[in-house]
Amino acid sequence: MARHFADKKLVIASHNQGKVREIGELLSPFGVETISAGDLGLPEPVEDGLTFIANAEIKALAAATASGLPALSDDSGLEVHGLNGDPGIYSARWCGPEKDFSVGMRMIDQKLGNNPNRAANFTCALTLAWPDGHMESFEGKVFGSVTWPMRGDKGFGYDPIFVPDGFDVTFAEMEPAQKHAMSHRADAFRQLIDACFNRN
Ligand code: IMP
Repeated sequence: MARHFADKKLVIASHNQGKVREIGELLSPFGVETISAGDLGLPEPVEDGLTFIANAEIKALAAATASGLPALSDDSGLEVHGLNGDPGIYSARWCGPEKDFSVGMRMIDQKLGNNPNRAANFTCALTLAWPDGHMESFEGKVFGSVTWPMRGDKGFGYDPIFVPDGFDVTFAEMEPAQKHAMSHRADAFRQLIDACFNRN
């Protein structure tokens, strides 16, 4: 059985403002006070894991140990099937040191070329870590396809080129609430909430 989250304060172990905002919105019904690793001035650990969960565990454990508070991390990315799952865990790195997401999106379009296989999925691993080293991890996915050119100005990251299955609009053209209802992050969140936040 997963460990229950009974604290009042939670560190969001991310320096990515888009993720910190989305996680805050997803946690808002649970009355948890959140503070980001960036606001606490915590260093960003080296993400040298080979899976989303391994990297999420590195980030959550580093933030929980450094802050003395429970910490929640998110490691996520876009897996393009016609590119053998790239950029995957390297999604942030494909955007370069300036973290310019349009660079990563252009790279995907160029590498895909005329490949008819446009299928893709976002994956999100969430890890909740406590200062004593205990961790709970969950993984969520959303399936869809990659489109070009980029469309929409909501969301963040690769949202302007991802069209979820069953829709004609990209994640960046949707209202945040609509994305939150179906995203990889929402899927992982449901599992986290069921296991660690809801008392049965
Ligand atoms: P991480 O901070 O190493 O986990 O980087 C994940 C990267 O994947 C982000 O910087 C984005 O480029 C991309 N990504 C993750 N989740 C989303 C999303 O919900 N929408 C768009 N891009 C995302």
